Amino acid sequence: MHTLSNNDFSNRKAVIRVDFNVPLNDSFQVTDSTRILAAKESIDYILNQGGSCVLISHLGRPKGKDSNLSLSHIIYKVEEILGRPVAFCDDCVGPKAEAAAEALNPGEVLLMENLRYYPEETAGDVDFAYGLSKLGDFYVNDAFGTAHRAHASTTIIAQFFDEDKYFGKLLENEVIAVQKVLETGEKPVLAILGGAKVSSKITIIENMLDKIDHLIIGGGMVYTFAKAMGGKVGKSICEDDYIDFALQLMEKAKAKGVKIHLPIDVIIAADFSNDANKKICSVSEIPDDWQGLDAGPETLKAFETVVMNAKTILWNGPLGVFEFENFAAGTIALGEQIAKSTAAGTFSLVGGGDSVAAVKQFGFEAKMSYISTGGGAMLESLEGKTLPGIAALLA
Ligand code: AMP
Repeated sequence: MHTLSNNDFSNRKAVIRVDFNVPLNDSFQVTDSTRILAAKESIDYILNQGGSCVLISHLGRPKGKDSNLSLSHIIYKVEEILGRPVAFCDDCVGPKAEAAAEALNPGEVLLMENLRYYPEETAGDVDFAYGLSKLGDFYVNDAFGTAHRAHASTTIIAQFFDEDKYFGKLLENEVIAVQKVLETGEKPVLAILGGAKVSSKITIIENMLDKIDHLIIGGGMVYTFAKAMGGKVGKSICEDDYIDFALQLMEKAKAKGVKIHLPIDVIIAADFSNDANKKICSVSEIPDDWQGLDAGPETLKAFETVVMNAKTILWNGPLGVFEFENFAAGTIALGEQIAKSTAAGTFSLVGGGDSVAAVKQFGFEAKMSYISTGGGAMLESLEGKTLPGIAALLA
């Protein structure tokens, strides 16, 4: 793996694929700068060595040149985070873009316009990728969030750089975090999979069974398992088509020596709303008109023991409908447990979608070992797939 470390980039020009696909409000202000902050380390590293940086990114899913999705909206934020001026080019490929890149001096940063103004980007067009490659002397991929896409700027471009292509610091950290869970993690390794549906997590579960010692199942997935074991789940979210899968999974886990932990009690609600009547109930005895929306106190006590004993933890998916304040307690309690275990030396990775949102919302960000910046890319990594963006750097 070619990382940025121990290379001399002075007087050299990087074309860096960053993921500046940040959320904007109606006034085009950046409402969450996490992704810009995440790219800072690589950019600073190259600039501090006397190199220069041409930043290429997408923003949203424009159909053609849509000024609402211009990267010019975020210049102020990139300047604020990097603490230096950032030039902008209103194109990303072709003579104008090349001239802007050419004019860049050591220590300077140039942000190019939205790559997805061109359909060639997502099509993985080779000529377009070649055009992008002309913007720098070497290529850095630091866009983990799009590393699972074989787009021109994330994958195809790499072939034009022979040896001169590098993992950015963020990409490197994400890859190492996944490796710590799937390959090199200290045992016992615990995966906590929550969220809405079993069907969306099948490949992850199957891939992880060979790597883990414990599996906590939480969230809406629980009820498919509870029903599979003969329980009554009322109106809880339940995927009848996956009952056989749930049974097979429990068999497989047993054969592989993986201990599955399911909730004992849950918080049930009279309907799917924050203000619904609620009560504690055994996970297998939910009355017909009720539905499970959160983990119960006995469950949380049992999970705490497993979390505290683990040495490596992956957390993907909330334990309940945390968007409803009244059903967020289980997810918050689990976050606290993982934070406590992390403080005691456990490696914790939070990755893939809604658990990241929960961790941020409830203030656990600084208390986890690593929080992934990539939803789909992290899920595909956990599924055991080699991401095209990563494969291209290794080719
Ligand atoms: P995922 O994207 O698969 O991680 O799913 C996250 C979603 O699962 C969140 O929006 C939660 O509200 C939802 N969820 C968690 N527990 C439940 C539950 N018991 N019933 C319905 N939805 C749930």
